Amino acid sequence: MMNFEELKKIAHDTRTEVLEMCIKAGTGHVTSSMSSVEVLISLYFGGLVNVKPEEPKWAGRDRVIISKGQCSPLIYSVLSRKGFFPKDWLNGFAQKGGHFGVHLQNSVPGVELTTGALGHGLGVATGVALAAKMNRDLHMVYCLLGDGELYEGSIWESAMFAAHNQLNNLVVIVDRNFLATTDFTENMMALEPLDKKFEAFGFNAITVDGHNIESLINSMAGLRNRKSRKPTVIIAETTKGAGIPSLSHNPVMHGVPPKGTQEINQARKDLAKGSI
Ligand SMILES: [Mg+2]
Repeated sequence: MMNFEELKKIAHDTRTEVLEMCIKAGTGHVTSSMSSVEVLISLYFGGLVNVKPEEPKWAGRDRVIISKGQCSPLIYSVLSRKGFFPKDWLNGFAQKGGHFGVHLQNSVPGVELTTGALGHGLGVATGVALAAKMNRDLHMVYCLLGDGELYEGSIWESAMFAAHNQLNNLVVIVDRNFLATTDFTENMMALEPLDKKFEAFGFNAITVDGHNIESLINSMAGLRNRKSRKPTVIIAETTKGAGIPSLSHNPVMHGVPPKGTQEINQARKDLAKGSI
Protein backbone atom coordinates (compact mmCIF):
# COMPACT_ATOMS: atom_id res chain seq x y z
CA MET A 1 0.00 0.00 0.00
CA MET A 2 1.11 3.54 -0.68
CA ASN A 3 1.78 5.84 2.25
CA PHE A 4 -0.67 8.57 3.18
CA GLU A 5 1.41 11.36 1.59
CA GLU A 6 1.40 9.49 -1.72
CA LEU A 7 -2.34 8.94 -1.46
CA LYS A 8 -2.87 12.65 -0.78
CA LYS A 9 -0.85 13.46 -3.88
CA ILE A 10 -3.05 11.12 -5.94
CA ALA A 11 -6.14 12.81 -4.49
CA HIS A 12 -4.83 16.20 -5.59
CA ASP A 13 -3.90 14.98 -9.07
CA THR A 14 -7.35 13.40 -9.37
CA ARG A 15 -9.06 16.68 -8.45
CA THR A 16 -7.07 18.49 -11.13
CA GLU A 17 -7.92 15.87 -13.73
CA VAL A 18 -11.64 15.96 -12.88
CA LEU A 19 -11.78 19.76 -13.01
CA GLU A 20 -10.06 19.87 -16.40
CA MET A 21 -12.29 17.09 -17.81
CA CYS A 22 -15.39 19.05 -16.85
CA ILE A 23 -14.05 22.42 -18.04
CA LYS A 24 -13.23 20.85 -21.41
CA ALA A 25 -16.64 19.18 -21.69
CA GLY A 26 -18.50 22.27 -20.42
CA THR A 27 -20.53 19.95 -18.19
CA GLY A 28 -20.20 17.46 -15.35
CA HIS A 29 -20.81 17.41 -11.62
CA VAL A 30 -17.59 19.00 -10.38
CA THR A 31 -18.64 19.73 -6.80
CA SER A 32 -20.24 16.29 -6.21
CA SER A 33 -17.06 14.69 -7.55
CA MET A 34 -14.76 16.77 -5.35
CA SER A 35 -16.53 15.72 -2.16
CA SER A 36 -15.96 11.99 -2.85
CA VAL A 37 -12.29 12.13 -3.92
CA GLU A 38 -10.72 10.84 -0.69
CA VAL A 39 -13.34 8.09 -0.35
CA LEU A 40 -12.55 6.76 -3.82
CA ILE A 41 -8.78 7.08 -3.44
CA SER A 42 -8.96 5.23 -0.11
CA LEU A 43 -11.01 2.43 -1.63
CA TYR A 44 -8.95 1.88 -4.78
CA PHE A 45 -5.45 2.91 -3.71
CA GLY A 46 -5.57 2.44 0.07
CA GLY A 47 -5.68 -1.35 0.01
CA LEU A 48 -9.42 -1.71 0.68
CA VAL A 49 -10.86 -2.85 -2.65
CA ASN A 50 -9.65 -6.03 -4.26
CA VAL A 51 -9.92 -5.81 -8.07
CA LYS A 52 -8.00 -6.92 -11.16
CA PRO A 53 -8.08 -4.09 -13.72
CA GLU A 54 -6.81 -6.44 -16.43
CA GLU A 55 -9.78 -8.72 -15.70
CA PRO A 56 -12.67 -6.37 -14.81
CA LYS A 57 -15.24 -9.15 -14.42
CA TRP A 58 -13.03 -11.37 -12.20
CA ALA A 59 -15.51 -13.34 -10.06
CA GLY A 60 -13.61 -12.73 -6.81
CA ARG A 61 -13.54 -8.95 -7.13
CA ASP A 62 -15.03 -6.69 -4.50
CA ARG A 63 -18.07 -4.94 -5.93
CA VAL A 64 -18.09 -1.15 -5.84
CA ILE A 65 -21.48 0.30 -6.65
CA ILE A 66 -21.55 4.05 -7.10
CA SER A 67 -25.14 5.00 -6.47
CA LYS A 68 -24.41 8.74 -6.75
CA GLY A 69 -23.71 8.26 -10.44
CA GLN A 70 -23.45 11.98 -11.07
CA CYS A 71 -19.86 11.90 -9.80
CA SER A 72 -18.88 10.00 -12.95
CA PRO A 73 -15.89 12.22 -13.89
CA LEU A 74 -14.29 11.23 -10.59
CA ILE A 75 -15.02 7.53 -11.06
CA TYR A 76 -13.68 7.57 -14.60
CA SER A 77 -10.52 9.34 -13.50
CA VAL A 78 -9.94 6.84 -10.67
CA LEU A 79 -10.67 3.76 -12.79
CA SER A 80 -8.34 4.90 -15.56
CA ARG A 81 -5.59 5.62 -13.00
CA LYS A 82 -6.15 2.13 -11.62
CA GLY A 83 -5.61 0.73 -15.13
CA PHE A 84 -9.10 -0.33 -16.21
CA PHE A 85 -8.90 1.62 -19.47
CA PRO A 86 -6.56 4.04 -21.28
CA LYS A 87 -6.16 7.53 -19.89
CA ASP A 88 -6.97 9.14 -23.23
CA TRP A 89 -10.59 8.02 -22.91
CA LEU A 90 -10.96 10.82 -20.36
CA ASN A 91 -10.45 13.42 -23.10
CA GLY A 92 -13.79 12.42 -24.59
CA PHE A 93 -15.79 12.79 -21.38
CA ALA A 94 -19.38 13.81 -22.19
CA GLN A 95 -18.51 14.46 -25.81
CA LYS A 96 -19.86 13.03 -29.04
CA GLY A 97 -18.03 9.85 -29.99
CA GLY A 98 -16.52 9.50 -26.51
CA HIS A 99 -16.68 6.43 -24.29
CA PHE A 100 -18.92 7.90 -21.64
CA GLY A 101 -21.54 10.53 -20.83
CA VAL A 102 -22.34 12.66 -17.80
CA HIS A 103 -23.71 9.80 -15.69
CA LEU A 104 -22.07 6.50 -14.87
CA GLN A 105 -22.33 3.68 -17.43
CA ASN A 106 -21.60 0.00 -16.87
CA SER A 107 -20.34 -0.30 -20.46
CA VAL A 108 -17.10 1.12 -19.05
CA PRO A 109 -14.64 -1.44 -17.60
CA GLY A 110 -14.71 -1.35 -13.80
CA VAL A 111 -18.19 0.18 -13.53
CA GLU A 112 -20.62 -2.31 -11.95
CA LEU A 113 -23.88 -0.45 -12.42
CA THR A 114 -25.30 2.31 -14.58
CA THR A 115 -26.49 5.01 -12.19
CA GLY A 116 -27.49 8.64 -12.08
CA ALA A 117 -31.16 8.28 -11.27
CA LEU A 118 -30.82 8.25 -7.50
CA GLY A 119 -32.00 5.69 -4.98
CA HIS A 120 -31.25 2.52 -6.94
CA GLY A 121 -27.68 1.59 -6.08
CA LEU A 122 -28.24 0.37 -2.54
CA GLY A 123 -31.07 -1.97 -3.57
CA VAL A 124 -28.77 -3.57 -6.12
CA ALA A 125 -25.86 -3.64 -3.65
CA THR A 126 -27.94 -5.48 -1.03
CA GLY A 127 -28.98 -8.05 -3.64
CA VAL A 128 -25.37 -8.54 -4.70
CA ALA A 129 -24.30 -8.87 -1.06
CA LEU A 130 -27.03 -11.43 -0.34
CA ALA A 131 -26.03 -13.43 -3.43
CA ALA A 132 -22.44 -13.48 -2.19
CA LYS A 133 -23.63 -14.83 1.18
CA MET A 134 -25.73 -17.53 -0.51
CA ASN A 135 -22.79 -18.56 -2.69
CA ARG A 136 -20.35 -18.36 0.22
CA ASP A 137 -18.29 -15.86 -1.75
CA LEU A 138 -15.97 -13.78 0.38
CA HIS A 139 -15.86 -10.55 -1.59
CA MET A 140 -17.10 -7.28 -0.10
CA VAL A 141 -19.73 -4.97 -1.53
CA TYR A 142 -19.21 -1.22 -1.21
CA CYS A 143 -21.96 1.24 -2.07
CA LEU A 144 -21.46 5.02 -2.26
CA LEU A 145 -24.53 7.16 -1.66
CA GLY A 146 -25.02 10.90 -1.77
CA ASP A 147 -26.70 12.44 1.27
CA GLY A 148 -29.43 14.06 -0.84
CA GLU A 149 -30.06 10.56 -2.13
CA LEU A 150 -31.19 9.55 1.36
CA TYR A 151 -34.50 11.29 0.59
CA GLU A 152 -35.38 8.34 -1.65
CA GLY A 153 -37.59 5.86 0.22
CA SER A 154 -35.96 2.95 -1.62
CA ILE A 155 -32.76 3.61 0.35
CA TRP A 156 -34.47 2.86 3.65
CA GLU A 157 -36.21 -0.22 2.29
CA SER A 158 -32.78 -1.46 1.23
CA ALA A 159 -31.30 -0.58 4.62
CA MET A 160 -33.96 -2.67 6.38
CA PHE A 161 -33.30 -5.53 3.97
CA ALA A 162 -29.54 -5.37 4.60
CA ALA A 163 -29.89 -5.60 8.38
CA HIS A 164 -32.57 -8.28 8.25
CA ASN A 165 -30.33 -10.44 6.06
CA GLN A 166 -27.27 -9.79 8.23
CA LEU A 167 -25.24 -8.47 5.31
CA ASN A 168 -21.98 -7.82 7.15
CA ASN A 169 -20.23 -7.97 3.76
CA LEU A 170 -21.91 -4.68 2.84
CA VAL A 171 -20.28 -1.31 3.47
CA VAL A 172 -22.47 1.68 2.69
CA ILE A 173 -20.60 4.96 2.43
CA VAL A 174 -22.61 8.16 2.65
CA ASP A 175 -20.94 11.21 1.15
CA ARG A 176 -22.26 13.55 3.82
CA ASN A 177 -21.62 16.92 2.23
CA PHE A 178 -24.75 18.47 3.74
CA LEU A 179 -25.98 19.68 0.34
CA ALA A 180 -28.53 18.25 -2.05
CA THR A 181 -29.37 19.59 -5.50
CA THR A 182 -30.84 22.94 -4.53
CA ASP A 183 -30.18 23.60 -0.86
CA PHE A 184 -28.57 22.43 2.37
CA THR A 185 -30.05 19.14 3.57
CA GLU A 186 -30.87 20.42 7.02
CA ASN A 187 -32.99 23.20 5.47
CA MET A 188 -34.76 20.91 2.99
CA MET A 189 -35.63 18.01 5.31
CA ALA A 190 -33.29 17.31 8.20
CA LEU A 191 -31.25 14.10 8.04
CA GLU A 192 -29.70 14.42 11.49
CA PRO A 193 -29.10 12.53 13.66
CA LEU A 194 -28.04 10.39 10.72
CA ASP A 195 -25.91 7.85 12.59
CA LYS A 196 -28.78 7.18 14.98
CA LYS A 197 -31.16 6.65 12.07
CA PHE A 198 -28.90 4.01 10.52
CA GLU A 199 -28.33 2.40 13.92
CA ALA A 200 -32.10 2.17 14.39
CA PHE A 201 -32.20 0.36 11.04
CA GLY A 202 -29.71 -2.22 12.37
CA PHE A 203 -26.44 -0.80 11.07
CA ASN A 204 -23.00 -0.45 12.56
CA ALA A 205 -22.58 3.33 12.02
CA ILE A 206 -19.17 5.04 11.90
CA THR A 207 -18.74 8.78 11.35
CA VAL A 208 -15.40 9.95 9.90
CA ASP A 209 -13.80 12.98 8.29
CA GLY A 210 -14.42 12.12 4.66
CA HIS A 211 -11.39 14.07 3.47
CA ASN A 212 -8.95 12.34 5.82
CA ILE A 213 -7.57 9.35 3.95
CA GLU A 214 -5.97 7.84 7.05
CA SER A 215 -9.28 7.97 8.99
CA LEU A 216 -11.21 6.57 6.06
CA ILE A 217 -8.87 3.62 5.62
CA ASN A 218 -8.71 2.93 9.35
CA SER A 219 -12.51 2.96 9.61
CA MET A 220 -12.92 0.39 6.84
CA ALA A 221 -9.80 -1.79 7.05
CA GLY A 222 -11.20 -4.17 9.67
CA LEU A 223 -14.64 -4.71 8.13
CA ARG A 224 -13.81 -7.80 6.08
CA ASN A 225 -14.59 -11.15 7.75
CA ARG A 226 -15.65 -9.66 11.06
CA LYS A 227 -17.83 -11.43 13.61
CA SER A 228 -20.67 -8.90 13.90
CA ARG A 229 -23.54 -9.71 11.53
CA LYS A 230 -24.46 -6.05 11.05
CA PRO A 231 -23.98 -4.16 7.79
CA THR A 232 -21.83 -1.04 8.18
CA VAL A 233 -22.44 2.55 7.18
CA ILE A 234 -19.54 4.97 6.98
CA ILE A 235 -20.82 8.52 7.27
CA ALA A 236 -18.05 10.42 5.53
CA GLU A 237 -18.38 14.09 6.44
CA THR A 238 -17.28 16.09 3.44
CA THR A 239 -17.47 19.43 1.68
CA LYS A 240 -19.22 19.66 -1.66
CA GLY A 241 -16.59 21.14 -3.95
CA ALA A 242 -13.74 20.32 -1.54
CA GLY A 243 -10.40 21.68 -2.73
CA ILE A 244 -12.02 24.52 -4.66
CA PRO A 245 -13.32 27.11 -2.16
CA SER A 246 -14.82 29.31 -4.90
CA LEU A 247 -17.22 26.43 -5.76
CA SER A 248 -17.83 25.11 -2.23
CA HIS A 249 -20.78 25.51 0.13
CA ASN A 250 -22.83 26.86 -2.73
CA PRO A 251 -26.04 25.15 -3.87
CA VAL A 252 -25.90 27.04 -7.20
CA MET A 253 -22.79 25.11 -8.18
CA HIS A 254 -24.59 21.73 -8.29
CA GLY A 255 -24.00 19.81 -11.50
CA VAL A 256 -22.10 22.46 -13.42
CA PRO A 257 -18.43 23.19 -14.01
CA PRO A 258 -17.01 26.69 -13.58
CA LYS A 259 -17.73 28.71 -16.71
CA GLY A 260 -16.14 31.84 -18.19
CA THR A 261 -12.50 32.87 -17.88
CA GLN A 262 -12.81 34.41 -14.43
CA GLU A 263 -14.60 31.47 -12.78
CA ILE A 264 -12.33 28.92 -14.45
CA ASN A 265 -9.14 30.73 -13.50
CA GLN A 266 -10.31 31.13 -9.92
CA ALA A 267 -11.13 27.40 -9.68
CA ARG A 268 -7.70 26.47 -11.05
CA LYS A 269 -5.99 28.89 -8.67
CA ASP A 270 -7.95 27.52 -5.70
CA LEU A 271 -7.05 23.96 -6.58
CA ALA A 272 -3.38 24.75 -7.12
CA LYS A 273 -3.15 25.90 -3.49
CA GLY A 274 -3.75 22.26 -2.63
CA SER A 275 -5.64 22.67 0.63
CA ILE A 276 -8.98 21.10 1.41
MG1 LIG B 1 -24.94 15.84 -1.05
